[in-house]
Amino acid sequence: MPTAPLMSLNGRIVPYEQCTVHAFSGVVKYGAAVFEGLRGYWNPDRGDMYVFRLREHLERLRYGMRILRLDPVFDLDFMERSLIAMIRANGLRETVHLRMIAYLDGDDELAATGPVGLVCGAVPRPRGRAVEEGVHIAVSTYARIADNALPPRVKATANYVNNRAAELEARRNQYDGVLMLTAQGKVSEGSGACFFMVRNGAVHTPDVSSDILESITRDTAIELVRRKLGLPVHERTIDRHEVYAADEAFWCGSGYEIQPILSVDRLALGDGRPGAVTRAVQKAYFDVVEGRVEDYPAWRSAVYANA
Ligand code: PMP
Repeated sequence: MPTAPLMSLNGRIVPYEQCTVHAFSGVVKYGAAVFEGLRGYWNPDRGDMYVFRLREHLERLRYGMRILRLDPVFDLDFMERSLIAMIRANGLRETVHLRMIAYLDGDDELAATGPVGLVCGAVPRPRGRAVEEGVHIAVSTYARIADNALPPRVKATANYVNNRAAELEARRNQYDGVLMLTAQGKVSEGSGACFFMVRNGAVHTPDVSSDILESITRDTAIELVRRKLGLPVHERTIDRHEVYAADEAFWCGSGYEIQPILSVDRLALGDGRPGAVTRAVQKAYFDVVEGRVEDYPAWRSAVYANA
């Protein structure tokens, strides 16, 4: 699916073709960038688009820039205005995946901290088939990057060399996706999603010190499981072999949304079909993100209502 024709470059609306960086920029040479993936949900009844948890995504982007020591040249309001202006300039009226990248520009050496650029763009992205059908995944032979080497808790571009290697390995072996373990062999996360499992009526997910991204969908799922499903959620260390004993599992992310995990390493979880808790989490999630319920209004930023 092609990217929407207009993008935002340092707050200016530019055609897709003109949103470029130099081949010797810091982001190309050293991978010095952080990015965000958000969703804008089109609500046909209200005739508006809701960006899900916009503020939290922008805060994570700023936090990532801080960790990478990129000059803090963009405040949250500027980043928000740039993103919203790009959506409006394209007149997008469908569900989209929104991408923002803060990157090291210029062609200076390794320790440069600026100039910093910001780009925003959108790709039409309806709900994927895996949300309904589920996925079969494998445990990776690649260890998840560790916090004392790279910052897994933010979306640093360079982190994704690790995710990509794991994803490619899984695809080569005919799996739909991959679950990475930490260097200590504990369950970490997928290449673009956080892992949850259901066991004996409780929900379990790796804690934020398991070298995972501080995922906004993970936080949302924890809240919805506790509040709407009334089930306990335990954030803790999880072993690989415990996953094989799960009654059901799912993973989640802004792009993935909530996808049932049907098997891990070809061992079926439960009866090998999407579980009841997973289906309930999906329903609660889509009701909230698509604006079909009134609660959590702060999580939905209307794009056109305030135009
Ligand atoms: N882990 C990784 C490695 C990811 O790339 C993503 C997608 N951003 C997630 C988890 C889910 O994070 P979020 O819910 O914030 O999209």
